[in-house]
Amino acid sequence: MLKNTKCLAVTEEGVSAETPEGEKLIPADTVVIAVGLRPNSREAEALRDCAPIFIPIGNCVAPSQVQGAIRSGYDAAAFQI
Ligand SMILES: Cc1cc2nc3c(=O)[nH]c(=O)nc-3n(C[C@H](O)[C@H](O)[C@H](O)COP(=O)(O)OP(=O)(O)OC[C@H]3O[C@@H](n4cnc5c(N)ncnc54)[C@H](O)[C@@H]3O)c2cc1C
Repeated sequence: MLKNTKCLAVTEEGVSAETPEGEKLIPADTVVIAVGLRPNSREAEALRDCAPIFIPIGNCVAPSQVQGAIRSGYDAAAFQI
């Protein structure tokens, strides 16, 4: 386990990482990425002026599961227009 370490790239050789000791390669054949998600709100907001009514829903508000995305789409269509 490496603390204070940031993944920079996954390459054929493994993971290139920024560590407190500097950049180093962690050799690997297989890399499993298990990190949290954040909404890409900036990209969603860039579309705000594309339509008369703009209501962000689903993962661009908060990453969740399909049921939550469908529900927020339903609520937007049914109650917010
Ligand atoms: C690996 C993984 C596994 C998952 N497994 C499950 C599961 O088992 N069960 C479950 O309920 N949920 C699961 N989820 C979550 C589920 O995928 C999301 O909750 C759901 O897809 C959110 O729907 P959405 O419509 O908000 O976003 P998305 O499904 O991400 O749809 C957004 C769409 O917008 C498009 N897009 C992005 N930018 C632009 C742009 N500028 N112009 C035009 N189009 C654009 C994208 O290409 C994409 O097609 C999983 C997610 C991941 C990443």
